[in-house]
Amino acid sequence: MIFTGHTLENFKEIIDSNERFVVISHVNPDGDTIGAALGWHNLLDNMGKKATAVTPNDCPDSLKWMGGAGQMLVFSNSKEAVQQAFDQAQVLICLDFNSSDRVDEAKPLIDAFQGKKLAIDHHPNPRDFVDVMISAPEASSTCEISYWLICALGYRHFMTMQVAEALYTGIITDTGSLSHNSSRPETYQAIADMLTCGIDKVSIHDHIFSNYTEGRLRLFGDIISRNLRVLYEHKVAYMFITEAQQKYFGFNPGDSEGFVNSPLSIKGIKFCAMFTQMPDQIKVSLRSKGDFPSNKFAAQYFNGGGHLNAAGGRIQCKLFEAMHLFEEGVKEYKQYLD
Ligand code: 5GP
Ligand code: MN
Repeated sequence: MIFTGHTLENFKEIIDSNERFVVISHVNPDGDTIGAALGWHNLLDNMGKKATAVTPNDCPDSLKWMGGAGQMLVFSNSKEAVQQAFDQAQVLICLDFNSSDRVDEAKPLIDAFQGKKLAIDHHPNPRDFVDVMISAPEASSTCEISYWLICALGYRHFMTMQVAEALYTGIITDTGSLSHNSSRPETYQAIADMLTCGIDKVSIHDHIFSNYTEGRLRLFGDIISRNLRVLYEHKVAYMFITEAQQKYFGFNPGDSEGFVNSPLSIKGIKFCAMFTQMPDQIKVSLRSKGDFPSNKFAAQYFNGGGHLNAAGGRIQCKLFEAMHLFEEGVKEYKQYLD
């Protein structure tokens, strides 16, 4: 991966000349943002610097095995501690997002941060919200960019197994275990080097994908059998999770990770959605195949964004209204679905 000269030099100068860092993930964190935050947290620690990892809200249990996860501060329940970490830090590193709205209520902390702001991300169309932005939309994940950046900055010797396993986690969670967004040979070169760092691939997969509750599997069955709508004429499908179902099956944050892709396994389906009813809004997850722009759809109808084939957003309305809006939107996007 090529990083342009100035960006790399500026990034290195800021890291080398400072001691206290905050690394921050996006809201409703996934494996890529947490993997990158903890990867950098551990790397900076190995460099003898002091880093605090922050997440806007709690992360799924399936990610809490990573080194440094126990010290991570969750803004929604430790606002003062996070404010203090921001006040003391000289450098802020934003991971896996391209605009300060992606941290929800922690946005004012990013906007008001007095030190240097860095960001590493792979979403298209980054906003200008930091001093140095490392943006590579072609990369599988922010964790993959982080790996190549660490090598380019000359920090490879600080990459212990703990760093490598966090970064590996982001690559596999953002690519559906290397099924999509992972056709560049560089992704596998990065993984090959992570294996030389001693990561245990089988155990990482077990931690992430074989660590759920029985309720989560039963919830999935219930949704697929009762809450799935398939619109064959539009090559579209969607499903929904009600608050009552979440309560009944003991839903935990992150439990529905992976559910949203399943309608794409139906022959002919090119675009799908999952609607999750929350106390004050509906969370929307979108997935597509080929050139269907999920991110454009998310921005147009659900105040969101994301990647071409994986995007999301949210809307304040009734569940049935959100699904109706989706069906209306699909008609407008007919040209992508032929
Ligand atoms: P998920 O469906 O897994 O929650 O999100 C898939 C992708 O969509 C994320 O990686 C992120 O890029 C994007 N995304 C999800 N929710 C939002 C949102 O509310 N705003 C924006 N801008 N992007 C989102
Ligand atoms: Mn990502």
